[in-house]
Amino acid sequence: MKRGLLVYNVNTDVIVDGRRQDMTSNGGTIWRYDHAASCKSSVYLFYDVSYYWLVLFLPISGHERFPSSDTIRADIVGQPSLLELSGSDVAVGDTVQFSATVKDTAGCDLDSANAGWSSDDPNIASVDASGVVRGESLGSTTIHASAASINASAPVIVYAQGNDQIALQNNISNDNAVVLLDGKQPSGCVNDGVYRGSTGVDVDNVLPSNSCSSEVVVMSNDNALEIVSPVSVWTEAAGDQLTVDLKDPLSLPLRIWSVHGDHQLVQQKAGADLVWANVAFGDSHAGIIFPAEFTDKTGDADPTKSYAYCNLHMDIIQDIGYEPGKLNVYYVDRVLQTSANAVGAWCGTFGMGGIILIENTAPISTLAHEVGHASSLQHVDAVDLDADGNPDFERWTNVMSTGSDPAITPTFTEGQAFRVNVNEISFLNAIGVRNGITRNCAVGEHNRTCPAVTLDLSND
Ligand SMILES: [Zn+2]
Repeated sequence: MKRGLLVYNVNTDVIVDGRRQDMTSNGGTIWRYDHAASCKSSVYLFYDVSYYWLVLFLPISGHERFPSSDTIRADIVGQPSLLELSGSDVAVGDTVQFSATVKDTAGCDLDSANAGWSSDDPNIASVDASGVVRGESLGSTTIHASAASINASAPVIVYAQGNDQIALQNNISNDNAVVLLDGKQPSGCVNDGVYRGSTGVDVDNVLPSNSCSSEVVVMSNDNALEIVSPVSVWTEAAGDQLTVDLKDPLSLPLRIWSVHGDHQLVQQKAGADLVWANVAFGDSHAGIIFPAEFTDKTGDADPTKSYAYCNLHMDIIQDIGYEPGKLNVYYVDRVLQTSANAVGAWCGTFGMGGIILIENTAPISTLAHEVGHASSLQHVDAVDLDADGNPDFERWTNVMSTGSDPAITPTFTEGQAFRVNVNEISFLNAIGVRNGITRNCAVGEHNRTCPAVTLDLSND
């Protein structure tokens, strides 16, 4: 068995066709590395465990086993063939980092640290040796980067440091309202900026945008959600003001039917569930309240028959009752679902968006959860991963986690509070309580018109 150690310094001058070179090991074996197959860094350790051969490019930043006995792969610093430049517009006196991406002929990233930087007009925007662009005065110019013999350029607009404001009128509880602002920059529609305030928020300088109109959404505990779109007040100058006149919260009426059990106890239970739902939707800035009326039908219910299966909703309607234009909530002994531990159900998937079934012993969060479904929300645990792919605890404890989760707290995200208002199929819109802009924002959708389902607004 051969053992040995071989240290190579890669000589880029002898690379054949830019990315290949044959190397001879100290055992006489010829190894070929083929960089076109890989964009790995040049500082790699490769080893073949069957012969204990090591080829070492120092310093080491990674290692892997040989894919075969005579082929190794590494990355040689080839000649730059592509330069990409990115950055954003900047306010006077502010800085922004521009970045240059340099690739070689194989499309592999090269070190961009040696890129050179320049500005067409340093009096408008200057740039330093590391690509930091500073707004010097109002106007626009072009930033250039170069690496070897290739160049790239990108326009930059330098805009005013502004004191544009969004004023809030008639904030009922003077709560810390949430203001979502789209497309603050003049080019491109960035995702929502999130601001908090009770009487208004300072949004710096919002620029007129030809594609975003810098839409504004205001959500507060005790006011209805407001969408201002398009917004026409924004100019390139400082001092613009948008006033948003907040309205009363929307009322989503419930008719609560006691079907099985002791009516007084059921009413107590339903009342507690209702308070919990109001807290969840209120604290989460949905701007919706749930006026409810209770009806005792325990005497009418056939105790030997389950009225609690969505398939049998005609039985419920005929035997117990149904009030159109309201969410009809039936408290029963048992909700029959395909899943044995179902404690509640919204019957929208059976064509009855106005029917909710709740078990008398269901967890207190069940009513809010089913009202969430009636308001177009889906479970969040299906997309319940953070940026690293790990479970996101905040969403895991969200009202729209599946009912089996033990740690549910009365929280929705800003995206969910938005969706219960604007989604076309939300019961609010279906019964005409709300008459405003509607959209169809799926649970994972995050763009200019649909906020993310990530931010818990209930804690502050
Ligand atoms: Zn559910």
